[in-house]
Order: sequence, then structure tokens, then C-alpha cells
Amino acid sequence: MATPIQPLSTTNHDRDSVGLRYVYPVVSRRAGGVSIGINLNPNNACNWACIYCQVPGLTRGGPPPIDLMRLAFELNTMLDDIQHGEFMQLHVPADVRTLVDVAFSGNGEPTSAAEFAEAVDIVIDIMRSRGLSDLPLRLITNGSLIHQASVKKGLLALSQVRGEVWFKLDSASFERALLINGVNQQPSLAITRLLDCAAIVPTWIQTCMLEVDGQVPSAAEIDAYVSLLESVRDEIRGVLLYGLARPSMQQGASRIGRVSEQWLDQLGQRISALGLPVKLSN
Ligand code: SF4
Repeated sequence: MATPIQPLSTTNHDRDSVGLRYVYPVVSRRAGGVSIGINLNPNNACNWACIYCQVPGLTRGGPPPIDLMRLAFELNTMLDDIQHGEFMQLHVPADVRTLVDVAFSGNGEPTSAAEFAEAVDIVIDIMRSRGLSDLPLRLITNGSLIHQASVKKGLLALSQVRGEVWFKLDSASFERALLINGVNQQPSLAITRLLDCAAIVPTWIQTCMLEVDGQVPSAAEIDAYVSLLESVRDEIRGVLLYGLARPSMQQGASRIGRVSEQWLDQLGQRISALGLPVKLSN
């Protein structure tokens, strides 16, 4: 890689850490290696405004046009350094020197890029040409644009390889979606989009649970959330259940806090009892 500007550690997930616009490496002990992130939102704009979002200077909106040639160049450069250069030796602890996945996961909603489907095709081609077709290719999304034809085209391409979607679903009520995600979305619409997505490509629900103003989600909210999961359990692969991992960079940051490990464990057990795999991290 041409311009590493600071060493990476398992706690350094800064998307600017290697000076590229669209491509960034994340070293994660939890994931067991290096993940290559594709950030299609270099302007830090998202169509949602999650209270826990870790993107600094987040604004509402979508990305500017994606320079697909630059994306391809950056990904090739990054992978060259990982596969044939000194990236692993210089930046990655010896016990996690392996590439674990490539993920569309950036500083905003990846599917809001008009070039999303083309970007997926480019990434698939590059992975194939480098003998990386066995690696998972993930899309981490809030799911709000799944109904768009161009997004479905990208999902279809993902379904032809080892594609997987992590679909954000933090609540099962209109009120909590507004509070947590800053979005007017009825749960029924979220379910429709989730099922649309899961019909095309293997899909996990990704949920962040947190306290707001010192309160955990109400019992009614959690009952509704578990019922929602029950209604879709045959269509999804499982649930990635998170607490607050890192500090929010948003205005509401002072209002939110971590739920206890015990609280999250109990929720994980309720989800497991539905027969759904749960991957939990707090
Ligand atoms: S959907 Fe993701 S990027 Fe957008 S505001 Fe929420 S956490 Fe941030």
C-alpha cells in the first residue's frame, strides 16, 4: 500500500487511517483478522441519524458521485499490500494476520450511492481476480432503500457470491425508531424491507441496544422486538446483538449509555429460545 499514515491496532478503526477515500482496513480481534471496509459515503452523510452513530460530523443526505475507477484502484492497492506486501507484518498483530471479509460499511448508508450496484460488481470482480471469492462479502445497511431496483441489483450480485447482509433493526416501534435512528419508519415497513432483502441474499438482523436517559428499553418494546423476530425467524440467519461498543459522535451522545451485560445476555437468551442463532457483543 502506498501511503500508510499511522499504525493500525485492534482499537484503531478510523476510516482515514491509511489515507484512502473509499477503502479502509479494520483490524479486529473479535472478527479474528483484517476486514476491508468499503466506504461509499466519504462525505459523512447518511439518510438516518442514529443517536449512537460513531461517524464524526454526520450530516443528513447521501454521497457525492462515486469515482469507481478510484475505488477499484484503492481496493487493488490495499489488497496488493495485504496479499503481497508488508501490511500484515507492519500493522497487524501476529495472531490475527488473516483477511476475514470485505464489507460495504462506511460513514453513511452504502445503498444510497447511485453507483452501489456497479460498486458491488467491481468489488466482486477484483475479489475473483485475486483468488478471494471464498471470502464473505458483506453489506451493512439500514435497509431503508432495499426496495429500489438498483439496490436489488446489487443484492442479486451479492447472492451470486458469498454475499451476506447485516440489516439494522434496533427497535420494533415507530417511537423508538424515531428516538434511536432519527427516522420515521413504521415497524411494518422495516419488516417488508427485511423480508425483501432476505429473499435475495442471506440476511442477519443487527441490533444495537442501549439506555436512553438512564432507561433500558421498556418491557413492551422488548416484547414487540422479540415478537417481530419470531415473525421473521424462518427467513433470517440470526441476530447480531450489540451493546454500545464505542462512543457516539452525535449531539445526543450524553443521553445514551450501555445496557448491562446481564440485561443483554437475558435478551440474547430470549432470542435463542426462538431458535435463532445469536452473536452477542457488549
Ligand atoms: S445508519 Fe449507520 S451511518 Fe447512518 S446514522 Fe445510523 S449508524 Fe450512522
